[in-house]
Amino acid sequence: MKHPIRHPVLLNRIPVRPLQLLKQIGRLGDERGVSVYLVGGVVRDLLLKRENLDLDLTVEGDGIAFARVVADRYGAGLAVFERFATARLAFPDGLKMDIATTRRESYAQPALLPTVQPASIEADLSRRDFTINAIAVQLNRRQFGRVLDPCGGQGDLRARAIRVLHTGSFQDDPTRIFRAIRFEQRFGFRLERTTVGLLAQAASTALIQGLSGPRLRNEILLLLAEHDPVRAIARMGQLKLLRFLHRRLSYTKNVRRVVTAVPKALVWWAHRFPDSEIDRSIVYLMALSSKSSQAVVDGMIRRLALSREQAKNMGFVGGRVDRALKRLTEKGTVRPSQVYHLLADFSDEALVLLLVKQRSAQHGARVSLLKRHLVAYVKNKSVKTALAGRDLQAMGLQPGPQYKTILGKLLDARIDGMIKTEAEERALVEKQL
Ligand code: ATP
Ligand code: MG
Repeated sequence: MKHPIRHPVLLNRIPVRPLQLLKQIGRLGDERGVSVYLVGGVVRDLLLKRENLDLDLTVEGDGIAFARVVADRYGAGLAVFERFATARLAFPDGLKMDIATTRRESYAQPALLPTVQPASIEADLSRRDFTINAIAVQLNRRQFGRVLDPCGGQGDLRARAIRVLHTGSFQDDPTRIFRAIRFEQRFGFRLERTTVGLLAQAASTALIQGLSGPRLRNEILLLLAEHDPVRAIARMGQLKLLRFLHRRLSYTKNVRRVVTAVPKALVWWAHRFPDSEIDRSIVYLMALSSKSSQAVVDGMIRRLALSREQAKNMGFVGGRVDRALKRLTEKGTVRPSQVYHLLADFSDEALVLLLVKQRSAQHGARVSLLKRHLVAYVKNKSVKTALAGRDLQAMGLQPGPQYKTILGKLLDARIDGMIKTEAEERALVEKQL
């Protein structure tokens, strides 16, 4: 370390309780004779003055043993990942912390997970993805606040640049291709020139195809979960990365129109239905594939090894959303009960996609009509009939499949506002008999 810098104010940006904890952990490090560092995203975000309480610590020595000591001392929950020489702690007050062993990584084969060996903090920093993520701050008492930045991360933060640490970085781990875009877009930085070249080169090979489905999915969904994924998607299109989701997927004008309609649709939905928890990343993935054929969508589901629920959402993308939209916005009236049946098995994400597609349509005029349908539909989902099977039985009806038909008719009539009371329901049943 040529010029270790001390940056006493940096750690003071951490809220007081976690800061106290970090000081105490630094002293524990002294007692155990190991150097302890805060490292990675949290250091970057401290320097950027962005809030981040994902505390990543790394220990020059046995990180797992040290994590056990910390967990014992504070009564924290502990999960150990031997293979990655990492432990995750959950403190009683809800704070979470990762503690790892400083290490070197070797990549036996591109795109597969590396093997790890203990190494110095400098070696640990130089195996990381980007310079801005390769800064450490020491926590031991006498070195508390000492910044280690052997790769020039602070300079790149000032220059607002994403830079890899060596030319083979994307080969070693192609997930860094997507991470690069994620950080670039999140911070409004730029990929530094050499890095763009290396990325483009890596993207022109089959490297990314070597990534397992779950690893690729994880990266893509993380990217799509960012605050504003629209630009990140455009960037993936520009760098010709979408073909790794499916060789026929690309960022055409039509796709762009749909994707850029997502943010407003999500805002409207969240405002209208604050209790609905939307999987935003999947909505973006649905939008991204909404101009693709069923075969392409199925191919994406397989390539990304999507979960059953994610795959179910993707299943709405093709004809189902378009057919429902056509029906909901065509001339003439649709009865509320018809809307109810039309949308009965739509997920909330699929309902949002309806709005997205309508907003993006060249003649987006019927957006407010669709919104009214959506609001009415969500309200009608909780409508119940007053009568149940046993009431029909009491009225002298033989139990059987017609119960379902009759109760269904009652529900439709309620939804359509034709009847409002139990007496009216009874009258309707009598009429049916
Ligand atoms: P975020 O704010 O999105 O969590 P982060 O920088 O904390 O960003 P993590 O994925 O949480 O990112 O990883 C923590 C740190 O581990 C990173 O800052 C980086 O130093 C290192 N790291 C993570 N993934 C990789 C990778 N694929 N290759 C090299 N280093 C990585
Ligand atoms: Mg993190």
